[in-house]
Amino acid sequence: MIQKVLIANRGEIALRVIRACREMGIKTLAVYSEADVQSLHVQLADEAICIGGPKSADSYLRSDRIISAAEIADVDAIHPGYGFLSENAKFAEQCESCNIKFIGPKSKSIRMMGDKSIAKDTVRKAGVPIVPGSDGPIESETEAVKVARKIGYPVIIKAVAGGGGRGMRIAHNDVSFAKEFHVARNEAEKAFGNGSVYIEKYIQNPRHIEFQILADSHGKVIHLGERDCSVQRRHQKLIEEAPSPFLTADLRKKMGKVAVKAAEAASYENAGTIEFLVDAKGNYYFIEMNTRVQVEHPVTEEVTGIDLIKQQIRIANGEKLEFDQSDIKIEKHAIECRINAEDPARNFTPSPGTISLYYAPGGHGVRIDSHAYSGYTIPPYYDSMIGKLICFGPTRKVALQRSYRALSEYLVRGIKTTIPLHKAIMSDPTFIEGKATTAYMEDFMSRTPTDLF
Ligand code: ADP
Repeated sequence: MIQKVLIANRGEIALRVIRACREMGIKTLAVYSEADVQSLHVQLADEAICIGGPKSADSYLRSDRIISAAEIADVDAIHPGYGFLSENAKFAEQCESCNIKFIGPKSKSIRMMGDKSIAKDTVRKAGVPIVPGSDGPIESETEAVKVARKIGYPVIIKAVAGGGGRGMRIAHNDVSFAKEFHVARNEAEKAFGNGSVYIEKYIQNPRHIEFQILADSHGKVIHLGERDCSVQRRHQKLIEEAPSPFLTADLRKKMGKVAVKAAEAASYENAGTIEFLVDAKGNYYFIEMNTRVQVEHPVTEEVTGIDLIKQQIRIANGEKLEFDQSDIKIEKHAIECRINAEDPARNFTPSPGTISLYYAPGGHGVRIDSHAYSGYTIPPYYDSMIGKLICFGPTRKVALQRSYRALSEYLVRGIKTTIPLHKAIMSDPTFIEGKATTAYMEDFMSRTPTDLF
């Protein structure tokens, strides 16, 4: 049984894991970079070890140092959080070979689903609908143009090793395709050290709807319903909600079954997410599986009452899931706003610096997952998310009203944040009516005066 966990991460997700462990009576070890000495995860864990310099490449991505810390502190398991090493099959393998439990899927599943073109192939064979596209990576431009024409424009060029919305380019004709193909390959090479790309039909104005999966090591796979993550900027999520205002009960049931099938095809174990694009007619297509806990997991927790981090730990312990699909009831609505240290009025430029005053909202139906506090200095080295505001209630209307109310109370001084932007979205009729697709943010920004932020 797991008695001590190393958290190979920082920020709010490190705190989230510490909280779950503490409630389960499990000891925690934080690892941190020299830039994170003041961080809450370092202060709140039972023990902490510095693993290197400020840059991720010198600390949070140094699997050798993380494993050494695990061995020195004698932990039984490592929770990777999201980002950093969470989807690194080699790291999971290293943990496995050092007899340290990796709280996540087996390295084999990470490898299979981490290569987006193998992932698509795997789920397609299991009968899961995928976006029409190339059979695998395409190297030559001549061949790529042929495939693009066959699929029919517009197409999207995507990095095989992609993530975080990077390495994706859209092309509307042969001319733009030739240019974007090279740009995508270069971007992918720079971002992921792997320039392989593949091509997909570009679905116009879809919704991004994903299903939360839980799978134990005894072969039971269930889903905990969906999250609608259509509010995105440059393919990066800003707001997520559960359930989706778009899905009918019938479509939800169908997609849930398919999501379970996709996870089964990967022999999946632990928590994971099956992502789909859904067009206006309700056609749905698998795009990828995330083999880790997601930033937006709290909305699922609030509508199901299930603590996903505790479930991850229980599954890693080899315990059986204690519920069946029919036990999962979703009778609430939850909305998450990602609070980023960015200036929405100035093209979302990062705004690191010292938070001179921090006051987080509270009250009925409000949850904050954040590592920020008054006096905290946000280092410039990592992503700009400083917290998540999750508001929930019996209906979507209540969750929306509560979100607006909580955002109005949320004070973060000294830096710029996305709080005013979220307030504007929570009072925007298109969003209120549940009509946001992935095209929403571009439209919203073009018609909203930036002095509102
Ligand atoms: P990443 O791994 O970089 O997050 P995803 O494959 O999950 O990339 O896609 C991220 C977002 O990009 C989707 O939510 C959607 O908005 C957009 N996208 C991806 N593929 C397509 C597609 N075929 N058609 C239209 N939009 C797409």
